Amino acid sequence: MDDPRVGGLARFSTVDWPDRLTATVFLRGCPWRCPYCHNPDLLTADRTGADIPWPDVLAFLDRRRDLLDGVVFSGGEPTAQRALADAVRAVRALGFAVGLHTAGPWPDRLAAVLPGLDWVGFDMKAPFEDYDRITGVPGSGGRARESLCRLIDSGVPFEVRLTVHPAILDDQAVDRVAATLADQGVPDLVVQHARPTATLPADPDGRPFPALSVTRAAAVPLVTTRA
Ligand code: SF4
Repeated sequence: MDDPRVGGLARFSTVDWPDRLTATVFLRGCPWRCPYCHNPDLLTADRTGADIPWPDVLAFLDRRRDLLDGVVFSGGEPTAQRALADAVRAVRALGFAVGLHTAGPWPDRLAAVLPGLDWVGFDMKAPFEDYDRITGVPGSGGRARESLCRLIDSGVPFEVRLTVHPAILDDQAVDRVAATLADQGVPDLVVQHARPTATLPADPDGRPFPALSVTRAAAVPLVTTRA
């Protein structure tokens, strides 16, 4: 198996796994194209000269064993790489707890790595029936729904996050997401704001994302808001 293609490494992070100090490994590749993508440079799966060799990542982690609470694989979409499973095992072998950020485009691949995980941050895009409009990929909502079901069934602790921009997701859509999760027994939904510095490629005027109001989530009891 090839080494994972690592497009970035956050050596210390307090924001990628709640209440944990982590190193976060950003893997290349994603099959979806959300207009507010937080890491567009990682969407291509191809290696670049700026990538970090996997042995260097492991060597860094080995030196940080006593300083970190865990390691998070993020992206891009980390399940895009078949090397993820071996990478998770290698990090566990160093003694770290392992977290994963995923939007769930590959339910089977997610299910395969879940036994090696201690926590998952699951990124929702919209009500499942509206996914195609945001990801640009037909059938993506069904894949995300299946991945979330697998995650719930696994018993691995997780958090569901929803990235919201008012131009592409209105209040009713957020309410529908919260209601769907409540039906599935998911206790919380964390609403994240699309970054105001990103741009919306689908917007013919190329206007930047405005900041999202932080007040609306208060109307939905299930929802907590993260700026
Ligand atoms: S699923 Fe995540 S990495 Fe992929 S395009 Fe959407 S925001 Fe970007």
